Amino acid sequence: MNESFDVVIVGGAVIGAAAAFFLAEALPRSARVLVLEADPSYTTCATTRSLASIRHQFSTPENVRMSMFGTAFLRQAGERLAVDGAAPAIGFVEAGYLFLATPAGWPTLERNHAVQRAEGAEVALLARAALAARFPWLTTNDLAGGSLGLSGEGWLDAHALMHGFLKKARSLGVQVRAGRVTELCREGARIRAVRLADGGEIACGTVINAAGTGAAALARTAGIALPVQARKRCVFHFRSPEPAPGCPLVIDPTGLYFRPEGQGFVCGIAPPEAEDPECFDFDVPPQWFEERLWPLLARRVPGFEAARLVSSWAGHYDVNVLDHNVILGAHPEVENLLFANGFSGHGLQQSPAIGRALMELVVHGGFRSLDLGAFGWARVIEGRGVREVNVV
Ligand SMILES: Cc1cc2nc3c(=O)[nH]c(=O)nc-3n(C[C@H](O)[C@H](O)[C@H](O)COP(=O)(O)OP(=O)(O)OC[C@H]3O[C@@H](n4cnc5c(N)ncnc54)[C@H](O)[C@@H]3O)c2cc1C
Repeated sequence: MNESFDVVIVGGAVIGAAAAFFLAEALPRSARVLVLEADPSYTTCATTRSLASIRHQFSTPENVRMSMFGTAFLRQAGERLAVDGAAPAIGFVEAGYLFLATPAGWPTLERNHAVQRAEGAEVALLARAALAARFPWLTTNDLAGGSLGLSGEGWLDAHALMHGFLKKARSLGVQVRAGRVTELCREGARIRAVRLADGGEIACGTVINAAGTGAAALARTAGIALPVQARKRCVFHFRSPEPAPGCPLVIDPTGLYFRPEGQGFVCGIAPPEAEDPECFDFDVPPQWFEERLWPLLARRVPGFEAARLVSSWAGHYDVNVLDHNVILGAHPEVENLLFANGFSGHGLQQSPAIGRALMELVVHGGFRSLDLGAFGWARVIEGRGVREVNVV
């Protein structure tokens, strides 16, 4: 006889794991929740390859508030996720983000600043002189100034957070299994069961699509076109003999970003649109660091002229090609299939807020803590995106 679960979560990386944790906390112990993960080594998922940073500096109020909840959660992660007294070491470093702007970009920074302050984010606009005084290792002569996160922004260990969610969820009764879902078995307006690669079927009350870059293929099996594509992003780890004291995560007007990591720094830049097709390989383009990044790094921080590349890796963003924001909740045609896909590079920091939101959709049938209705399917179907200016 087929097994049956109240909730089946497809994908057990940070989004699926966060959903499992919040559901396990909220549902009675008799509820049956299952996480199915195709690759329990988690070698190539976005969570593992993430830069794992969190910022409050978005242009959309909902994105600011999701990350602010993320920070509050990360600060308590030790207590919330401890199992038998053992807390996950998520290594949250609150060193801030610094968005730099040329005179042309300054009005946008000011507009975003107003949105962020209205949501309660602790951010400060620094004019060029203040910027130069605070970060003397930075070249500022082409800049109007920058926007600095004063608290709550920084970076963490993504893998530790994901496993912390999973371990706690397991301790509360969630089952986590290896298994690739090959089909969502749809009957009319419902998903009856999920089919696995070994041919088995598991009946379900609700299904959550947390399959990252696998989400569109999964949705297709239920006849739903999800506008999410895998796009390659490369990260480079380098050493610099010159220190950059108090370095936050810096976002340059060119799109270059860098931040400290261990004894060195990590950096990257999104490729231009024309060089950014859907892509499933993990090859790092040769010469990318020397030819594209190094000149930008040295221009912004003269001390990086002597930077030495240590290692590099590629990962995939799950890009919502409509508007670079999450698609959250049920599609109007299928009532018991919840989506949480298309994070486009900011899903790690949103995982606590999204996990909580998915729990509220399952338990209450609607959002309770934070209204994320703007990120539902309606805007996708109508083709009107939620515009987020600060996509990195
Ligand atoms: C280079 C890089 C840098 C990033 N930097 C940041 C950052 O600084 N801050 C931030 O917030 N975010 C960042 N992100 C984005 C963030 O990592 C992702 O948004 C987030 O990890 C998405 O989590 P997920 O669980 O949805 O997807 P994933 O981590 O991709 O996991 C999806 C999981 O689903 C499984 N799966 C897929 N299909 C199936 C199936 N059919 N059956 C069963 N299992 C399946 C996969 O095996 C995988 O484990 C970055 C991403 C990359 C690649």
